[in-house]
Amino acid sequence: MRKFFTFFSALFSICIFISQDSIFRVEPPNWWAGMVHNEIQLLCYANNLANCDFKISQIHNDVHLKAITKTSNPNYVFIDIEISNNADPQNINLEFSKNGDLFKSFDFPIYKKDSSGRNGFNQKDVLYLITPDRFVNGNSENDDIPHLKERPERENIWGRHGGDIEGIIQSLDYISEMGFTAIWINPLLENDMKKSSYHGYSTTDYYKIDPRFGTNTLYKTLCSDAKEKNIKIVMDMITNHSGSEHWFVKDPPTNDWINFEGKYTQTSHAHYSVQDPYASKYDKKAFVDGWFVETMPDLNHSNKMMANYLIQNTLWWIEYSGISGIRMDTYPYNDKEFINDWSCAVKKEYPNFVSVGEEFPKFPHAATLSYWQEGKKNYDNYSSCLPSVLDIALMKSFINSIKDLEEKDQWKTWQEVYYMLSNDFLYPDPYKLVVFPDNHDTKRIFSTLNEDFNKFKMTMVFFSTIRGIPHFYYGDEILMTNNKGNNDGGTRSDFPGGWKGDKINGFNGKGLTQQQKEAQEFVKKLLNWRKTKNVIHYGKLMQFTPYSNGIYSYFRYDENDAVMVIFNSKDKSEIIQLDRYEEIISEYKSAFDILEEKQYILKNNFEIKPNSVLVLELKK
Ligand code: CA
Repeated sequence: MRKFFTFFSALFSICIFISQDSIFRVEPPNWWAGMVHNEIQLLCYANNLANCDFKISQIHNDVHLKAITKTSNPNYVFIDIEISNNADPQNINLEFSKNGDLFKSFDFPIYKKDSSGRNGFNQKDVLYLITPDRFVNGNSENDDIPHLKERPERENIWGRHGGDIEGIIQSLDYISEMGFTAIWINPLLENDMKKSSYHGYSTTDYYKIDPRFGTNTLYKTLCSDAKEKNIKIVMDMITNHSGSEHWFVKDPPTNDWINFEGKYTQTSHAHYSVQDPYASKYDKKAFVDGWFVETMPDLNHSNKMMANYLIQNTLWWIEYSGISGIRMDTYPYNDKEFINDWSCAVKKEYPNFVSVGEEFPKFPHAATLSYWQEGKKNYDNYSSCLPSVLDIALMKSFINSIKDLEEKDQWKTWQEVYYMLSNDFLYPDPYKLVVFPDNHDTKRIFSTLNEDFNKFKMTMVFFSTIRGIPHFYYGDEILMTNNKGNNDGGTRSDFPGGWKGDKINGFNGKGLTQQQKEAQEFVKKLLNWRKTKNVIHYGKLMQFTPYSNGIYSYFRYDENDAVMVIFNSKDKSEIIQLDRYEEIISEYKSAFDILEEKQYILKNNFEIKPNSVLVLELKK
């Protein structure tokens, strides 16, 4: 197996041939026969390449040269080739020569597409979100890569700390034992930025894992090692913008490669201008074409070559690495026609693959989010192939419901989350949404809850049992907080035990407080229970109006099973009146609370303790 990867790695490294005075790049570095996407465009880059003569040698009948395109920048040549479905694996050779002398040559391999396809994550899964620089430093030798611009600095919350892919591979057993079945990893592609490169959202090479995280080969190993432990890998991707240090930003092929002709123009962040029926063209452009920040130039998707480049890059990673899903960053910031072409190209190539889009507006609502989901009939006829959306609306409404329980009008307790779920009719398929209490862009959930352990337990139960596919953020299970700052750097702090010499170790429990250990056991029990519950994965949802007594309840149910979840957010015990649940519990005799492991008889009303949650499996 390792030998095979070394072989791939050797082929990959050919694509960046650095001679003394010039760089030669060909992207993508290879393709596959049997792909639906069988007409590909190679971006070739070298100093004055367009002034060379070009030929393809060793070309077979089943591979056709379709077009050669030059741009206003002589350093680029775009080559379109078509690969027949029945083409055999082969190398085609690209040759650029000047005055009869060979200038650059490149062997472009064509492999066979993996016939097993790519299956996406689904409702059976619980995702573990990892910020890789901050999780586990599995290889301290890659912490400082001399040719990259930023040096490691673990004491700085905005600096690079050294976590890497090797660290994730070493932690697969822990992740699996905790009950997680998929890992979404924040971006791993090269970010050769001068500072704050740790977060990974400023891509400087679309075909290369950042050497501080590992190599392409190691990423592939992670995918296959994880698969052996029944863990799926979800790749974080960004098509909206790149990093300002990207070579094609510094030397773009065309004047319109980057929006606003490469001149920094801040986005308005006015998400709603995309869906707003009253929006002006001015506002739409200001939002979609504006740059996320100055160091993240906005890519121009209306340039066909750019659009092609990004779509091919995505298909390349899916086929190359064996991932089971993509989380697409800043989804609505993309040109919406382009991002639809993108999601449909992925769907066409891999019908069972799943991508989830991030829409993170200031006032999140199902009305805004549902616009993007596959199957949605929109007023403007916009139709999408995107299977899933990150349900920020449910996250915000849940937090508003649980956070201020004491302060606000008690009648309102739980109303916001109840109300938001009642808007699920807006989604073509709410059961496919990804639900979560926090992520790398929010405060840590335990800090949001003012370190209230009971509320923490309620939160974990809610997101593990409500409709959708849950994700949690690394360290939620050991109550990690924002003690280093209420900002991104503070949220994304190091997982204890991930670095040699750490005094506290979340993996083996050394130095954890009693409460942290209890939290970890709680999450482990809950998620491992969820793994086996088809009714939680695919059952329907029925919710009951929250009462002013602080009780909120819902059921997940199908023809065979039902699970009842009841929250009491008040500081006193409450009696659960069962008569209102008659339509669903009538055929059941008893209920088993999976958390306290306690039996209830459904003939009698029963008590729920203050600030607690019951997860009841109904028994016939
Ligand atoms: Ca490292």
